[in-house]
Amino acid sequence: MPKGFGATADQDPCPCGGGLYGRCCGPLHRGEQRALTAEQLMRSRYSAFARGEVDYLIATHPEPHRLASQRRRELQRSCRQTRWQGLSITAVSGGGGGDLDGTVQFEARYKGGVLRETSLFQRRDGQPEGDWLYIRAVDLVDDEGTI
Ligand SMILES: [Zn+2]
Repeated sequence: MPKGFGATADQDPCPCGGGLYGRCCGPLHRGEQRALTAEQLMRSRYSAFARGEVDYLIATHPEPHRLASQRRRELQRSCRQTRWQGLSITAVSGGGGGDLDGTVQFEARYKGGVLRETSLFQRRDGQPEGDWLYIRAVDLVDDEGTI
């Protein structure tokens, strides 16, 4: 169960459901590993929302026209107000080792509803060795109050 800000230890289940935090999204949040696929980046961003890892969320979603300080405030508020309760990946297209972009469709459950989104990911600068980045939602349904 996500416990909110910074409460997840390496031995706890990762918020994304992929195993122990210390072997799943933890090394990505700490900058020790990079996401190898778009799905891995998506999972690590979900876990970052669940844990309040705001710097990671900013680093993996470039928005050059917005102030980092404002984004940080908005993300901190979002992480505080939303209790994320689980993630299901429902479809993946591209986003693998030899791809430059890809989409991941997922359902993210939170206390009070479920967010269904298809996210677009691209490698930084379109380079084959570039880090995976979250670009934007290409399809989004927020069913607030359905759970
Ligand atoms: Zn994880």
